[in-house]
Amino acid sequence: MTDKTYSLAIHGGAGTILKSKMTPEREDAYLAGLRTALEAGEAVLRDGGSAMDAVTEAVCALEDEPLFNAGRGAVYTTEGVQEMDACVMDGQDRRAGAVAGIFGPKNPVRAARAVMERTPHVCLIGPNALALAREAGLEFEDRDYFFTQARWDALQETLAMRAKGEESDDPARRHGTVGAVARDRNGDLAAATSTGGMTAKLPGRVGDTPMPGAGTFAENATCAVSGTGHGEIFIRWTAGAEVAARMRHRGETLEEAARHVVMNDLGPNDGSGGVIAVDRDGNIALPFNCEGMYRAFVREGGERGAAIYA
Ligand code: ASP
Repeated sequence: MTDKTYSLAIHGGAGTILKSKMTPEREDAYLAGLRTALEAGEAVLRDGGSAMDAVTEAVCALEDEPLFNAGRGAVYTTEGVQEMDACVMDGQDRRAGAVAGIFGPKNPVRAARAVMERTPHVCLIGPNALALAREAGLEFEDRDYFFTQARWDALQETLAMRAKGEESDDPARRHGTVGAVARDRNGDLAAATSTGGMTAKLPGRVGDTPMPGAGTFAENATCAVSGTGHGEIFIRWTAGAEVAARMRHRGETLEEAARHVVMNDLGPNDGSGGVIAVDRDGNIALPFNCEGMYRAFVREGGERGAAIYA
C-alpha cells in the first residue's frame, strides 16, 4: 500500500554551465527558476491533483523561463532555427504522447499531452503536430518570443569553432533540457521532458526527449524518469527504460538503478548528463555524471531542496 504522500523532482538540464563561469547572480536566477517550477508542480499535488498534471505544470514553468533550453530559450540548429521535442508518459498504463521538431506552441509539453489525449498515436511531427496543438486551443508564440541572445551567441560560437575544425568544447556545455517526475497521493507516477535539443544540431535531428524509454519513462510498478544529456547516447542505451528494468528484474533500488545507468552505462560511453527519477514509494534519485545538473525536489512532509552542482 502506498503511504499516500506525493514526491516531485524537476531538472533544468545537466552541465550547461561550468562552475568556474557561474556568478552568484546567475546561480540565484537559476535557483529561483527551479523553485518557481517546483512550486507550480507541487501546487497541483498538494491539492490532490495527478502526477500527470503536476509534471505538465512544472515543465510549462520551466519552458516559460528563458534560462532553460526548452520552450522560450530553446537552442538553435545549424540553420539558426529552433526545433523542439517534448514528451509525457503516464505510469498508470504507459500511455505516452510526444512531439518532435516543432516550432510555435508556447509550451511544447502541452502539445505532447494533446498527442496522448487526442490521438491514438505516441508521436507527431510536422504540420499535423501543429494543427493538433491549434485544435487543442494551445497558445502559440513567434520567433521574437522564443529568441534569446545567449542561445544565439552559443550557436555562433559553436559554428565558428566548427569552421576552424575545433569540436573541442566541454560536451556538457552544449546541452540542456527540462523535465519533471512525480508520484501523486494515489501512488500514480508520471514523467515529462521538453527540450530545444543540442546547440547546432542538424535540422531534423530528434533527441532522446520525445522517445519513451530513452529520455522519458513512467511505469507505476517501478519508476518515472526524465533525462538530460547527450541524447544520442540516452537513445542507444534506452536510459529511462533501463532504470526501470534494473529495478524490475534485478530488484535494485531506485538509487542503485539510476546511478548505475548514469555512471556505468551512459558516462563511459560519451553519455554526459543525468536523470531525475521517482519510484513507487516516493523515493527520489538525481544522479549525474557531469559538473552540474539544475535540479529541485520535494517530498510531502519531508525533505526539499534545489541545487546545481554536486
Ligand atoms: N537530451 C537532450 C537532447 O539530446 C539535450 C539535453 O538534455 O541536454 O536533445
